[in-house]
Amino acid sequence: MFTLACYPRYPLGHFPTPLEPLTQLTGRLGDTYRSVPSLWIKRDNCTGLATGGNKTRKLEFLVGEAFQQGADTLITQGAIQSNHARQTAAAAVLAGMHCSLLLESRQKSDEDYERSGNVLLDEILGAQIVDRLPTGTDMQAAMEELAERLRGEGRRPFVIPVGGSNPTGALGYVACAEELDAAPIPIDWVVHATGSAGTQAGLVAGLRLLRHDAKVLGVCVSRNEDLQRSLVHQLAQDTAAKCGADIHLPQDAVLVDDRWVGGGYGVPTDGMVEAVRLLATTEGILLDPVYSGKAFAGLLGNITEGRFKSEENVVFLHTGGSVGLFAYRSTFAPSTT
Ligand SMILES: *Cc1c(COP(=O)(O)O)cnc(C)c1O
Repeated sequence: MFTLACYPRYPLGHFPTPLEPLTQLTGRLGDTYRSVPSLWIKRDNCTGLATGGNKTRKLEFLVGEAFQQGADTLITQGAIQSNHARQTAAAAVLAGMHCSLLLESRQKSDEDYERSGNVLLDEILGAQIVDRLPTGTDMQAAMEELAERLRGEGRRPFVIPVGGSNPTGALGYVACAEELDAAPIPIDWVVHATGSAGTQAGLVAGLRLLRHDAKVLGVCVSRNEDLQRSLVHQLAQDTAAKCGADIHLPQDAVLVDDRWVGGGYGVPTDGMVEAVRLLATTEGILLDPVYSGKAFAGLLGNITEGRFKSEENVVFLHTGGSVGLFAYRSTFAPSTT
């Protein structure tokens, strides 16, 4: 058996997160569609770290490693509305470290996108936004350059890759797999948004290590299926290897669905807007425009296509990000802008 106890970990969040039934939504869909499974929601939007989200789990292990290396500064990068950047900024506060962020302008945007939502919180949390760089910049190289500069000034930076997605960060989702394995219901499916791949990779590796046979369906938010599948597959294997196991995972055992991306990363779709409104008005739960909204649109689409059996338990993993709604005011309330 493997154990997560041997990895350095810095406590940042509220765990285990709740697993709740989506009773009203399941009832509503059952009025319309033939084969509706029992729907549940795993509330990783309630991890507690400066409005929470999936990066909190990854950061517990990443910050643990940063401490072990004697770091005094966390460096990371993401889109202007990066939830990962915002949670890293808060993690740095708790860890007593500095936080330096590089933000990439990935799409056409307005004042709300440039100033509100996550990027506003980055500043309130005291992170230093070192630079805003144009689309297509080699952000990893830019982080390495920044780290070099800070070392020259006598600092001890720790570079966290985009989304916190390396085998260390993915251990956070091995921990989530442990929570799912201990759930009081038999879980048949886990559905969630997949981007930098650490969430799905950690879940896939963790569930395999626990011999739990729930299927994990990653709904793409940026890449096409082939690219996303190979990214998740590689990281799942590397994560299992870090846990001291070889999981012999065939590539086609990684399930992804790229039909809900629309115009690209962060570009709103009608399905996303409908999904956000539906969950808000049936369950009082807020999704986000970039990740969980598209993933929920994908979940609904797969339900209407009859992918799940009515006797199955399907868990939607809410990965957080609802503060991003403020950056998309013009999408949800065009008449007020
Ligand atoms: C980062 C993020 C994701 C994607 O998780 P990955 O581990 O990068 O695949 C999903 N949802 C939200 C809200 C996120 O911020």
